[in-house]
Amino acid sequence: MRASKRFDKSYEIISNKEVYAVYFELKVKADDVVKHCYPGQFFMIEVPGVFLRRPISVHDVKKDTLSFLYKVVGKGTTILSKISTGAIRLLGPLGKGYDLETYKDFNHVIVAGGTGIASVHFLAAKLNKKGTLYYGARSQRDLLCLDKFENLGWKIKVSTEDGSKGSKGYITDVLQKNLKSDDVIFVCGPTPMLKKVLEIAMLKNVKGFASLEEKMACGLGTCQGCAVKVDGKTKMTCKDGPVFKIEQVEL
Ligand SMILES: Cc1cc2nc3c(=O)[nH]c(=O)nc-3n(C[C@H](O)[C@H](O)[C@H](O)COP(=O)(O)OP(=O)(O)OC[C@H]3O[C@@H](n4cnc5c(N)ncnc54)[C@H](O)[C@@H]3O)c2cc1C
Repeated sequence: MRASKRFDKSYEIISNKEVYAVYFELKVKADDVVKHCYPGQFFMIEVPGVFLRRPISVHDVKKDTLSFLYKVVGKGTTILSKISTGAIRLLGPLGKGYDLETYKDFNHVIVAGGTGIASVHFLAAKLNKKGTLYYGARSQRDLLCLDKFENLGWKIKVSTEDGSKGSKGYITDVLQKNLKSDDVIFVCGPTPMLKKVLEIAMLKNVKGFASLEEKMACGLGTCQGCAVKVDGKTKMTCKDGPVFKIEQVEL
């Protein structure tokens, strides 16, 4: 896990389109900043007319393009979704991303739920070995990016709560059945899912990394709004995380 050089500047918008229901992909024309982006890191996006910048993970990085995949949930993301031209101010990359080195010879297991799928895509592209994505959603229509993971060479196990695609129920049940001692987990998703994955990892003595999505205001560790308990100590999700070792996270 590492921190990198950060920038606070405006980038020209290439596109900002709805790519799945209520999910938009924002692409900006990037420069050297792409060399400093690491899977699991995020940017604080300045939205006109909104007081606080909004944290959104790096979804994809190409030579001169930076992409973000975000769900429209409230005031900030609604206003953001209506901007399709001009420039946008971004602060980042921020935080410490996933550790891609320590367990590089293990079988890689990515677990994602909800908006968590947005950040693990960049991770899936960067990991040296392709593995299995465990992806849970409410229904088939809530499953995003499956083609992108297939194109990257990942095996995919899907579950939906209504049974419309894959196994019926929670993806953590599928994970529990299949997880092996030589797997390493990378997880990003809602807190109940994270809790369950942490429990399974403990039970099976499997190591890994969890990315937390605490509410945050500054993204720099100053406001202390995103404090979490990690290894018995208070840590800031934005500065010390958002990625932490699974066995140290206390939810
Ligand atoms: C490190 C990090 C990475 C994230 N990456 C993504 C991503 O790639 N794609 C995506 O769709 N969403 C992501 N989120 C969640 C996203 O930041 C929120 O959905 C967004 O800020 C909501 O803003 P809003 O104004 O539309 O909603 P509102 O609810 O109106 O926001 C009000 C305030 O709450 C904060 N907030 C609300 N929900 C969240 C949340 N779940 N997490 C953190 N802050 C929140 C906002 O920053 C804002 O200050 C990420 C959150 C964090 C912390």
